[in-house]
Amino acid sequence: MNNLTQESKLRLAALEELYREASAHALGYPVNLTFDYKEILPFLDYNANNVGDPFHGTNYRINSHDFERDVIARFAGFMRIDPEDAWGYVTTGGTEGNMYGLYMARELHPNGVVYFSQDTHYSILKILRVLNMRNIMIKSQENGEIDYDDLRETIRINRDVPVIFMANIGTTMKGAVDDLRQVRNILDDLAVTQSYIHSDAALSGMILPFVSDPQPFGFDEGADSLAVSGHKLIGSPIPCGVVLTRKEYVARISRSVEYVGVMDTTLPGSRNAWTPLLLWYALERHGEEGFRQVVGRMLSLADYAVERFNESGISAWRNPNSVTVVFPRPSSDVIGKWQLAPYRDIAHLITMPHVTREMVDELVDECLESERVQLAR
Ligand SMILES: *Cc1c(COP(=O)(O)O)cnc(C)c1O
Repeated sequence: MNNLTQESKLRLAALEELYREASAHALGYPVNLTFDYKEILPFLDYNANNVGDPFHGTNYRINSHDFERDVIARFAGFMRIDPEDAWGYVTTGGTEGNMYGLYMARELHPNGVVYFSQDTHYSILKILRVLNMRNIMIKSQENGEIDYDDLRETIRINRDVPVIFMANIGTTMKGAVDDLRQVRNILDDLAVTQSYIHSDAALSGMILPFVSDPQPFGFDEGADSLAVSGHKLIGSPIPCGVVLTRKEYVARISRSVEYVGVMDTTLPGSRNAWTPLLLWYALERHGEEGFRQVVGRMLSLADYAVERFNESGISAWRNPNSVTVVFPRPSSDVIGKWQLAPYRDIAHLITMPHVTREMVDELVDECLESERVQLAR
């Protein structure tokens, strides 16, 4: 192999510079930019592969299944299911976890109808198309939570078919949490006998386990599967996530494959062995107490941001236990600079661990300035 040309080296250097600059101005996406995984860099020298079910063997021994099982056990604790009853694996991100949950729901209830709110993540509609599942979109309330009256009326009309509820545990735009207790009450009231709940807990799945008054979100509140992102709150150089479900369900879809000596229970065949290691490392280093502190700091910074906006006469708000601060959509310059994610007339900032008070102050000042410019026109 040849060495890189000078030109190619410069190109890489420029990309790194771009990453560095953009990382200093990241307020809009729910990703944690503060992490340090250098201690596990040596593992990048191996063609590691976690092919197959992490709870089953494989002929390919360069894998991190053992660490992946530890990650699943830890997440099981966070998501309130006995690790003995839980099954799961490390995914490529929230989308794959959602697809797995809905796939499981369809295998258990082939003629079920999926209910989800207007504020649901864009991955869900795509997944429903891929899986060819019947589905009905339900109205949302102003704060992003599902409209329980609309849900009740819609399920009432379809009482004879199994209900698959896609619960938003922290919506993307407003950080709203659908109330699993209310949903289960509706199912009980209507005497629905077959149901399945999937929790899409991409970001808030790593917030709610660490606050004192969480909204219902986990297996103890009726979830049958749950997806969390790894690159969001925990932070990771490679997108990843975790999907959890009940061990008894997985038995229904597993199939063994002799060629690689695996149980084929995961969506991909070959799987990343590095991301389980990385999540394991982060969980070992933070511990539950570490996450409690990180989450506490994020929530107080979110409070600070809401106050700063409101003091400046710009109305901002957030949902309970959410680090997503919603405010009026600013000019495109401000959106571009801070990589904000606008939606219609709103935008949000998310107080991830790398976000500082200074960044919030700067943003608020710029929003004020962009308002003044608009008024002057
Ligand atoms: C980010 C997000 C997802 C998708 O996660 P990816 O890791 O990007 O696939 C799903 N649901 C919600 C609510 C999200 O915020």
